[in-house]
Amino acid sequence: MDKILVANWKMNPGTLTEAIELARGSDHEGVILCPPFIYLHTLKDEIMNAALGAQDLFWEGETGPFTGEVSARMLKNLGVSHVVIGHSERRKRFHETTEILNHKLKVALAAGLTPIVCIGEELEEKMSGQSEAVWQKQCAEIFKDIQTNSLIYIAYEPVWAISTNKNALPDTPENATHAINFICSIISSHSTTSVIPAEAGIFGVSPSSIKFLYGGSVNSSNAASFLDIPNVTGLLVGGASLKIPEWQKMMALI
Ligand code: PEP
Repeated sequence: MDKILVANWKMNPGTLTEAIELARGSDHEGVILCPPFIYLHTLKDEIMNAALGAQDLFWEGETGPFTGEVSARMLKNLGVSHVVIGHSERRKRFHETTEILNHKLKVALAAGLTPIVCIGEELEEKMSGQSEAVWQKQCAEIFKDIQTNSLIYIAYEPVWAISTNKNALPDTPENATHAINFICSIISSHSTTSVIPAEAGIFGVSPSSIKFLYGGSVNSSNAASFLDIPNVTGLLVGGASLKIPEWQKMMALI
């Protein structure tokens, strides 16, 4: 099918032994495993077909006095190929602003990592009819001054559909299609405020270098309906990626 699955393990599993077991059971072409930082080094030698991604990175420098942080270059040197930027849990709990995400995107691209940039609205924003304005603002601020032809994944993740939220609501392929088409049109259209090479789309990002993922409580029962959305290249999955039988059913779809 030629689609991808990104497994966001978040702060799981609790031991390295479990992480190795999970990685071995998830080692499939087209899969990008994003474990906690401390498992990356070991898991690199446990997988042959999947790729490795990080769940985050620091926005500045290659080395330096940044206690607790991990740089893009450290990840790249370790064999990590992808990095998640701006997951809603980090935006909410760690107060990551779109300005920070813009810096993270720049350092990821400079280091040759493939970014997976999360875009998505909160429930209150959806209910008050602001979804499109939120997507527009997030894209404009996160992609500000970015000029690249490198591959970037944009993961549309409505925050209200992510399983770790209390009262997560199920999303529909129709809503996801509308959101992804809208975000796609933002990227493809020209902005008068951005620095753009004539041949590129908004923000100086070539529209053909952007691919879209969907994420939000996807599991083996609904995965096919989201993978079937024409502009969707793959899925960003949290909870279901931690359950090997469930994940194996999803891997069979790609
Ligand atoms: C996520 O963490 O990005 C996510 C989509 O989680 P879940 O699949 O558990 O909703």
